[in-house]
Amino acid sequence: MAREHAGVKILMATSEAVPFAKTGGLADVCGALPVELEKLGHEPIVILPAYRQMRTSGMPIEPTGIHFEVPIGNKMVEGSFLKSHLPNSSVPVYLVHQDHYFDRPELYRENAEDYKDNCERFVFFCRSVLEAIRLLDLHVDVLHANDWQTGLLPAYLKLEYRGVPGYEQIGSLFTIHNMAYQGVFWHWDMLLTGLDWKYFNWQQMEFFGNLNLLKTGLIFADRINTVSPRYAEEIQSAPLGCALEGVLQNRREVLSGIVNGVDYREWDPAVDGDLVAQFTPETIEQGKAACKADLQSSFGLPVSPRTPLVAFVGRLADQKGVDLLVATIRDWVQSHDVQWIVLGTGDDKYQSALTMLAERFPQRVATRLEFSNRAAHRIEAGADMFLMPSRYEPCGLNQLYSLKYGTVPIVRATGGLVDTITDANDKTIAAGSATGFQFSEYSPLALAEALQRACNAYAQPEVWKRIVQTGMRQDWSWTASARQYGDLYRMTANQVRRGMVAGNT
Ligand code: ADP
Repeated sequence: MAREHAGVKILMATSEAVPFAKTGGLADVCGALPVELEKLGHEPIVILPAYRQMRTSGMPIEPTGIHFEVPIGNKMVEGSFLKSHLPNSSVPVYLVHQDHYFDRPELYRENAEDYKDNCERFVFFCRSVLEAIRLLDLHVDVLHANDWQTGLLPAYLKLEYRGVPGYEQIGSLFTIHNMAYQGVFWHWDMLLTGLDWKYFNWQQMEFFGNLNLLKTGLIFADRINTVSPRYAEEIQSAPLGCALEGVLQNRREVLSGIVNGVDYREWDPAVDGDLVAQFTPETIEQGKAACKADLQSSFGLPVSPRTPLVAFVGRLADQKGVDLLVATIRDWVQSHDVQWIVLGTGDDKYQSALTMLAERFPQRVATRLEFSNRAAHRIEAGADMFLMPSRYEPCGLNQLYSLKYGTVPIVRATGGLVDTITDANDKTIAAGSATGFQFSEYSPLALAEALQRACNAYAQPEVWKRIVQTGMRQDWSWTASARQYGDLYRMTANQVRRGMVAGNT
């Protein structure tokens, strides 16, 4: 049981965690947050599937010798638990071993097609997590589920395990990392879950005739959170609620947001080995000049110290506002002395539009259509401005890296971008709180207006220096976010202890 100010024992169930398996930001959160929680005196434990990818984690992985079987539809499926830990910590990591489900080349999909048995695979994973608590004697206060892959956990806890000794006091927290991915499956997959058909109704697990695992998590969890306070607000209405806005409105009393942190061991220009020159807030002038020249020459652009260099790094997907980026480059490329660097992979339509621009205007536009961590670091260090015109952004990490690298973010005012960037205007510049430039309307015109404001500020070195210094000196490490998670876990555990669980069974 969680005491008021003591550490909380948390079982964090996830489909990915660095360094064992990664396709996106969820893996970064689940690899970094538990390490910080442990430093704060909590007792986190991570559990995830034992995918093929784990073999390249570089971590020692041992069998526990604990085997189990769980019902999947009308059959029993066997599995076992492996054990490891998170690097630079003693946070235990359990891996659910079941080769038929998890020993595959990828995590969820191959050749642009989802694995056909994804529902079955994650029913199995969720049932294994519940069994792990008993079989591994984990004594947890809070079961922390993440995204649709673990959406069944709060339901099983409430519907099947509530009366089981050892489970009565466990609270459940469900974190949404992106509302757009919901784990929607045809209705017959309800049979795989083993839950009664009576829960297959529009107020619980059903969603326009299908089974929806994200919705299931939102309905049955004791508390819900997402990766920024603004996104927590936005998903309570259309379109960002992705048709679950009604569910989230109903549960708004237990819904909150916590911004993700940055791993400054990896993203800090003072120690970044990928840069030609490291720099701090004191040495940025020389440091950035060297990094910028290096970036310009390696991308084949003229080395021009006073030309504003605008960068974009990210997935070339609709979510990221790449259509606005392309439209703005087209509008500006002949009329403004600005250089553009784009690093990303994604939709063909964006790749070809960007390639055409780079071919036509090689003095001003350079693109690299690949995934390169090293290039991402060098761009963060060498650019003057970092553009994120996202349609929606649950949290966003690049803008936080940019702050640390003295690269001023220009962002659309959505989700985590609102919560982390303070728009530069006369008042915020004078107050020393400005860190970037925001625009609201999703249009090339609104973006151009923000970009013009940024270029005007860039032309005034004293103003620019102030904005850069404010951003560089901010602390977006995991420490502050982990503290907030600690409070949230405590609240979740106490809510259950006081019998304040949602009456949704
Ligand atoms: P999302 O998780 O929605 O893709 P985030 O901003 O939260 O967006 O995180 C994206 C991460 O992936 C960042 O660390 C970013 O630098 C990295 N990234 C995206 N595309 C590339 C790329 N082409 N090369 C290198 N890193 C990339």
